[in-house]
Amino acid sequence: MQVENLDVLIMGAGISGIGMACHLRRRLPEKTFVILERRQAIGGTWDLFRYPGIRSDSDMCTFGYAFRPWTEPKILADGPAIRQYVNDTAREYNLGRTIRFERRVVRAEWSSVDRHWTVEVQREGDGRHERYRARFLVGCTGYYNYDAGHNPRLPGEEHFEGRIVHPQQWPEQLDYIGKRVVVIGSGATAVTLVPAMTDRAAHVTMLQRSPTYILSVPAIDPAASLWSWMPRGVAYRLARARNVALARALYVLSRARPKTVRRLLLREVRRQLRGTVDMRHFTPTYNPWDERMCVVPDGDLFRVLRRGKASIVTDHIESFTSSGLRLRSGEMLPADVVVKATGLDVQLMGGIDVVVDGKPVQSRDQMIYKGVLIQDVPNAAMMFGYSNIAWTLKVDIACEYLCRLLRHMDDHGFEMVVPRDRIGLRTEDTIFGSLSAGYIRRAEDRLPRQGKQTPWKVRNDYVRDMWTLRFGSIKDDVLEFRRADTTSSRGSHGRTTRVDRKSGRDVSPYASRRRERDGARAG
Ligand SMILES: Cc1cc2nc3c(=O)[nH]c(=O)nc-3n(C[C@H](O)[C@H](O)[C@H](O)COP(=O)(O)OP(=O)(O)OC[C@H]3O[C@@H](n4cnc5c(N)ncnc54)[C@H](O)[C@@H]3O)c2cc1C
Repeated sequence: MQVENLDVLIMGAGISGIGMACHLRRRLPEKTFVILERRQAIGGTWDLFRYPGIRSDSDMCTFGYAFRPWTEPKILADGPAIRQYVNDTAREYNLGRTIRFERRVVRAEWSSVDRHWTVEVQREGDGRHERYRARFLVGCTGYYNYDAGHNPRLPGEEHFEGRIVHPQQWPEQLDYIGKRVVVIGSGATAVTLVPAMTDRAAHVTMLQRSPTYILSVPAIDPAASLWSWMPRGVAYRLARARNVALARALYVLSRARPKTVRRLLLREVRRQLRGTVDMRHFTPTYNPWDERMCVVPDGDLFRVLRRGKASIVTDHIESFTSSGLRLRSGEMLPADVVVKATGLDVQLMGGIDVVVDGKPVQSRDQMIYKGVLIQDVPNAAMMFGYSNIAWTLKVDIACEYLCRLLRHMDDHGFEMVVPRDRIGLRTEDTIFGSLSAGYIRRAEDRLPRQGKQTPWKVRNDYVRDMWTLRFGSIKDDVLEFRRADTTSSRGSHGRTTRVDRKSGRDVSPYASRRRERDGARAG
């Protein structure tokens, strides 16, 4: 089998993988890299999800890359526009030949003797296997399983004579003209789908178990005319800074003064609904930002509810019947189409097997150093964005950090870097911290752990992360570097032994302390 040797191997051609490749092109143009993508297209989430109305719920000034301004006036962009933006970015950075489509990474094994990753790949089309070798591995595989969403089987589904669909596998030709649609769920997908489907459906019902905080934001940036007077790059940076500050202020205020924020959020919903819908459907039992908040452009969800094109029900499903759903309250919901917006199945590093020197790595045992490098896993990074503001804000600065780290390693002749927790800072919390959405609770046993303090504590704080990742020192007492002329193996007492390849001498700190001690005794 022919094996390709690379400096960096990127898994995934979504917004993060393409971003990482652009950062390499900009900062380390001499590095060789490929992007392995299991699908046939660029864009990840924005290519996979095709349900009506699919859009971002982050503003595009912060969801776009720092290095490539988003120029459309819409604040929350449609899926196809984001897909186009990612594709255009890849084209601008001439990434075409670096992306290998239909390559699913199944396994990556690190060897500390050879100082490289061996990456096993299965081709999606013909099932053939390929192998790649790389100095550094970057996981840009998002956070969920691409094969299927979370789709719990509900009682009586088999009796339903209508159509059941899941947003992750939206049937291209789904006909819902004049049909009664029930959307199960209360998250970002449900609040997007409900107004988007009302233009064709006879009626759309949103069926939720419990309410969510919903915030209406302007569809078009109110300052758009101001930005049009400025150079594009300046306007983008200013809009970005403003949106980061606003999002951060809302988050911090929600944590510090939950009652005040709750009152303000509910007051705005009441104003939007104008007494047409019972407020109990919009009054969550938890505090703002205990779970991800939903946003809607220009109150589109409230508008269709006001006009009676859609309705909202808060109840539990007893079972499907042949013509709809029977609820715990005894109410019957007639339906021709049921959309199960029941969420995602969380999966990290694309579900691959990661092995370090023969030992399998379990993500629930690891912490994430500076939110980028994986504890005890050499030369490996995981691009994992924010959950309270735009994902890409974090990915951008993480890519910058990685490029700085690679440059540092080149400058000092290091071949290997690995973050070690020497003082036991692991907690049992996951890296999502206090956010308690259903998909996070379901994945608790698979998620990396939160650290007690920096650099192991994953913070949802862009400004502090930006200082650390963009300007902070690379060297610290957590990162362990190995030079090109040393090999490593585990000593008989579990200590790390570093052997100089030329002289064969043990050059580990432990060995030098032992020599000093022996010398003192001999003296
Ligand atoms: C419907 C929806 C809406 C969202 N809206 C927002 C939003 O508004 N704001 C926000 O911040 N976040 C949002 N998110 C989260 C979103 O996933 C991220 O913002 C972002 O798109 C993730 O980009 P990514 O490139 O890291 O991962 P993804 O977009 O998930 O891309 C991962 C890529 O890796 C590939 N891959 C996976 N496993 C393998 C493997 N083993 N081998 C090879 N390739 C592999 C996949 O095929 C895919 O192309 C949303 C998520 C969903 C599902």
